[in-house]
Amino acid sequence: MARKIGTVHLVGAGPGAPDLLTLRAAAVLRRADIVFYDALVHPDTLALAQRAAKIAVGKRCGRHSTAQRFINKRLVDAAASHRTVVRLKGGDPLLFGRAQEEIAALKAAGVPFEVVPGVTAALAASAGLGVSLTQRGCARSVALVTARVGKGERENNWVRSAAGADTAVIYMGIGQSAGIARELIAAGVAPDTPAVVVENASLPDARHARLTVAELPRAATLGIEGPAVIMLGEVFASVAQTAVASVPPLAAMA
Ligand code: SAH
Repeated sequence: MARKIGTVHLVGAGPGAPDLLTLRAAAVLRRADIVFYDALVHPDTLALAQRAAKIAVGKRCGRHSTAQRFINKRLVDAAASHRTVVRLKGGDPLLFGRAQEEIAALKAAGVPFEVVPGVTAALAASAGLGVSLTQRGCARSVALVTARVGKGERENNWVRSAAGADTAVIYMGIGQSAGIARELIAAGVAPDTPAVVVENASLPDARHARLTVAELPRAATLGIEGPAVIMLGEVFASVAQTAVASVPPLAAMA
C-alpha cells in the first residue's frame, strides 16, 4: 500500500456566496495541493486554492456524475502523494453531502481527515428572508429533511420528521414538489401552512416564492434552475404571499 503523507480536509464551501466561507476553510484552501470540488461551488471560492490542482467531481441531478466509489478512491489515492487534500462541498459537508461514505473510505485506508463545517442552505435561506426558523413563541424545532431516496437505500420517513417539526426545510425537493405536498397533507400538515421556496440563497440572483403547502406543486412550474429549498412552517406567515397565478418569475430576494 502506498505510504500516506497527506490529510484529507472535508470542507464546507457555504451556500454559494464566496464570502460565506469560514476562515478555517479559506486557510486550508490556500495551502491545498489538490481540491476535489462539487458542482455548486462558486468560482471565487475555488480561486482561493491558488496552488492546487482542481478536479470537478460534482453531482447534479440529471447530469453526469462521478460515481461515489470512484470519488472515495481518488481521495485515498490523492492522500498518498499530496500533503493537503481538500474535498470541497456546497453548504455544510456533512449535511446531505455523502461525506460519511468518504469518511468511511478514508478511515478504512488509514488516511487522516478533518471536517471544516460550512453554512448550510437552510440557514442561508433563513437569513435571506430575515425569518428565524426558531421564532420565539412559534417554533421550537427545525427538521432538515430530504424526500429523495437513493438507489438501494432504505425508505426514509422524512415526512414524519417534516410534519412533526415546527419548521421544516426540504433539500433536493423541487422536482418532487407535488408528491411532497401530497405526503405532507396526508401526514396531517394543514394545507394552508405557509411554505417558501428559496432558490440560490445567498447569491445575487436569489429568488423566493411564498406559497402554501397545498400550492407546493407549483414549485415545479416556477422556472427554477438553481439549487432551491422548500421551507414550511408558521414562521413564514410573515413573508408576503406570491401571486401564484402569475408565476414565473419568482420575487427577487433583496
Ligand atoms: N451540503 C449542502 C446540501 C447538499 S444537497 C448544504 O449543507 O447546503 C443539495 C441541495 O441543497 C439542493 O438540491 C438544494 O435543495 C440545497 N441548496 C444548496 N445550495 C442552495 C442555495 N444556495 N439555495 C437554496 N438551496 C440550496
